[in-house]
Amino acid sequence: MSAGKRLTTEAGRRPWWILRFAKKREEGCEETFSGEYIKEHQAVCHHGIHPCLLDRVPEIKCDWMGSFKEIVTHFESQHENYVCREARFLSPERHASASILLLHSQIFLYYKCFRDSKCYCAVHLFGTSAEASGFKYKVKLSAENNIQTLSQVNVVRSITEGFEATFRAGHCLRLDDEVVRHYVVEEALQLQVEVSYTKVAELEEPEQCRVRGGGFRPTSVASSSWGLRKLWR
Ligand SMILES: [Zn+2]
Ligand SMILES: [Zn+2]
Repeated sequence: MSAGKRLTTEAGRRPWWILRFAKKREEGCEETFSGEYIKEHQAVCHHGIHPCLLDRVPEIKCDWMGSFKEIVTHFESQHENYVCREARFLSPERHASASILLLHSQIFLYYKCFRDSKCYCAVHLFGTSAEASGFKYKVKLSAENNIQTLSQVNVVRSITEGFEATFRAGHCLRLDDEVVRHYVVEEALQLQVEVSYTKVAELEEPEQCRVRGGGFRPTSVASSSWGLRKLWR
């Protein structure tokens, strides 16, 4: 009995997810996934045909489609000015900008934009969300005096998520324009981004710190109306 036959359902037909997996096998993909992960994997499968990554940036239009092997060549020939090979780079524009980051043997897409009086900044990996969680990025803003700084570390998200979803969920840098303005020196935003591997220790051992007292309990509607009733009596 062949493996294919063992996967046959009672009705004698293979379930849809096995069919999709089998199709990928023909194209050269050897990886196996359960149903829920197939769609995500297909969107970034190294054996698949994919649209240009920059087409995911609203300000950029590129109709190119090609195999994973051709992607980097396409970037280098058509979008050389967007390619960045430094793990730490500056993003000084005060308007939307994007970069293809060829780092750590991976392809990342960096996107920064200004809208709704806010500045958004995110890094996506051309990979699944499980693969993306292996990387983080630090965003650091510095004021002219170099004393006032603001930094945030985020886990890289998968390109399959889409920037809109990342921005909406706040899995990114999201700052008010008024805050960002403090970090503009001579018309340039003093924004530095650094992409690195996520260390397992960081996920497992949160820094220990004593909890300080002095918090205020919110006054619930019920207790305040009870207090009012008491006064009225
Ligand atoms: Zn695959
Ligand atoms: Zn392109």
